[in-house]
Amino acid sequence: MSKIQEVLKQRILVLDGAMGTMLQRYKFQEEDFRGERFKDWEHPLQGNNDLLSLTQPEAIAEVHRKYFAAGADIVETNTFSGTTIAMADYHMEDLVYELNYESAKIAKKVAEEFTAKEPDKPRFVAGSIGPTNKTASMSPDVNDPGFRAISFEELRIAYKQQVEALLDGGADILLVETIFDTLNAKAALFAIEEVKEERGIEVPIMVSGTITDASGRTLSGQTAEAFLISISHIPLLSVGFNCALGASQLVPHLEVLSGRTDYAVSAHPNAGLPNAFGEYDESPEQMAAQIKEYVEKGLVNIVGGCCGTTPEHIAAIARLVGEYAPRPIEGEYVSV
Ligand SMILES: [Zn+2]
Repeated sequence: MSKIQEVLKQRILVLDGAMGTMLQRYKFQEEDFRGERFKDWEHPLQGNNDLLSLTQPEAIAEVHRKYFAAGADIVETNTFSGTTIAMADYHMEDLVYELNYESAKIAKKVAEEFTAKEPDKPRFVAGSIGPTNKTASMSPDVNDPGFRAISFEELRIAYKQQVEALLDGGADILLVETIFDTLNAKAALFAIEEVKEERGIEVPIMVSGTITDASGRTLSGQTAEAFLISISHIPLLSVGFNCALGASQLVPHLEVLSGRTDYAVSAHPNAGLPNAFGEYDESPEQMAAQIKEYVEKGLVNIVGGCCGTTPEHIAAIARLVGEYAPRPIEGEYVSV
């Protein structure tokens, strides 16, 4: 049993909040994204948040530090778009290994600082594996429903590269998140299994889907239960949902997961629904008041925040969940 699995049996773990929301506060401009190293890059780089792990590593470390200080047990690496598929937007496919490796190293270093200070509250790093910007099971072209912008095999190769670099950099957990297309996630899970087998290692895996709207389905059309069944062939540390919805809207979907899986259940919702300007303005207190329903009903083992959440949100969540027992876990993620 891994250390994190032991801790999960004792208490509800807190995941960090949004990286992007925090990075906006720095107001980085094009030249900040470029730094010295990429000052002559031929394509615009502003908005490539993952690149900041190379050009503004101190800012990334600072965000991790703030989340740990707020009470997070787990922080996510700054690698949401760290695949050749997503990095193609910036013509930075060749940097993918380095981006993931350095991001994991930054997070790990900060985690170790905190663990050394508080050995009874060990801190963990989850390698963030995003959905990419392409979908394997749907066509982006309404006039050609059979067309696919990406194949399972292309995704598998890209994810394998990301996974290897995240592990080499020191990630303790792999978090396949914001899944809108389960086939993309399956390619990521397949790649992880390949790396585990080749290296002869076990790695705790968290899987987190995204219910995109009030219909209660993912973008590729699955209900919470269908999503769970689709990914349950893999031994997992946890399964859950993140993004797209606020905390309250996730409750019925978490109830489905919690009632039907022996794995741990995770949730990292947005700070409510976006306003007319695309901003999230739910306060830490408002969000924590909704998450209270999760813990009172015993639905979750890991809880954090997605879009619009800040260290203040995570601090409010950490204070709340500390008073509740975790949902009982039967499942062992280690396959034998
Ligand atoms: Zn989000």
